[in-house]
Amino acid sequence: VKPEAEPLRPDHAPEAVRWITRTLESAGHETWAVGGAVRDRLAGLPAGDWDLTTAARPGEMRRIFRRTVPIGIEHGTVGVLAPDGRLYEVTTFRRDVETFGRKARVVFADRLEDDLARRDFTINAIAWHPLRGELKDPHGGVEDMARGRLRTVGDPDDRFAEDRLRVLRALRFAGRFGLEIDAETWAAIRRAPGTLAPVSAERVREELFKVMADPSPARSLKLYAASGVLADLYPELEAVRASRNAWEQTLDTVDAISPRRPVLRIAALFLCATPEAATRAAAARDLLRRLRCSNAEVDLATHLLALVGELPGGDASDAEIRRWLSRLGRDHVSDALRFRAGIARAQVENPTSVAAFARRVRRLAASDAPLTVGELAIGGEDLRAMGIRPGPEYGRILRDLLDEVLEDPSLNREEVLRERVMEMLGGRR
Ligand code: ATP
Ligand code: MG
Repeated sequence: VKPEAEPLRPDHAPEAVRWITRTLESAGHETWAVGGAVRDRLAGLPAGDWDLTTAARPGEMRRIFRRTVPIGIEHGTVGVLAPDGRLYEVTTFRRDVETFGRKARVVFADRLEDDLARRDFTINAIAWHPLRGELKDPHGGVEDMARGRLRTVGDPDDRFAEDRLRVLRALRFAGRFGLEIDAETWAAIRRAPGTLAPVSAERVREELFKVMADPSPARSLKLYAASGVLADLYPELEAVRASRNAWEQTLDTVDAISPRRPVLRIAALFLCATPEAATRAAAARDLLRRLRCSNAEVDLATHLLALVGELPGGDASDAEIRRWLSRLGRDHVSDALRFRAGIARAQVENPTSVAAFARRVRRLAASDAPLTVGELAIGGEDLRAMGIRPGPEYGRILRDLLDEVLEDPSLNREEVLRERVMEMLGGRR
């Protein structure tokens, strides 16, 4: 990573960023771009959200711009709706008071330098002026990025004690940019396991999801493991990490799944966790619940872990695949195939046969052959009309019919199914 190779130019920022800066500075308030977007551009990567920091106080920003959103006024953050129709976060310069390794109290500041000093890592504490192209880098973040080094701004133990989440952010940034963690910062991180409990489940979850949204999470996950943070936050993964082959296989699989499906990547962490699919699914469910993931996310991960191993192989019959689809549910087909493809890629399976098989599964899922009891040509009403008394018997009959229809979808016609019901009942009586 060489920032000299691509210095930041004003046209690297969206016009809206220059417009906001110009507007605030014409009103007399110094304004800079900071944080992730500046860092990412210096690393030669596409920038995410552009954040601005300014001497203007929230009230002044709301008077200067016609359209604003009070995102976090008490923290100084105002959303400015720019002419490009997008919302930009503009935050008043802030500084920490009374820190000394305790949670800091934040007050508004007049100087950019104060604002940069409270940021977590040197690479995140670089300000760039969107009109003049000037850099303000009092902590040497540009050089650290160029040399591939991650360091806290100031004493690492103090900075981590102020906000334990920074430990996780360090592991993520080091992994994402391939940075070496500076010795003192690393020593402080190694002391962090056991102290992370005060970080809320939501913030831990957000961090894990951000790691999983990176192109290749393996590097950050290795740092989670090496620092002891993995064992502390995710003890259910300890058995996977303890076996070198299982852990490497797991990380390869995670990397092989799309960054746009972080939940699938989290599920993949459990593929080698225990010999039985059911206990893997249960362990993933516990972890995702603990992180307060949505029910949909928990269900998806557990369902895939329980069923992906049972996906029949390339030589399976249509009926076998339909039976599997019936248990999986049509909604999960795409994710199950993505998950399966990731596993296949990590195990270096033949990509052509994997893709051909996936097409066949998709085609069977899209056909109008019934996969659920609700899609049968007869239902509870018909059974009642046939004189069968409502009760648990209904469910049993319909499931037996579905079994037969999964085997041979041409049976799914009202007369045929009625006749089958009569035969079944006759046979039972
Ligand atoms: P990403 O958006 O990829 O997570 P980012 O660096 O933009 O990375 P944000 O959470 O968007 O992260 O924060 C923007 C900036 O605010 C950071 O670059 C950093 O300067 C500062 N910052 C964020 N969180 C913290 C924190 N916990 N402690 C200190 N500074 C922080
Ligand atoms: Mg950001």
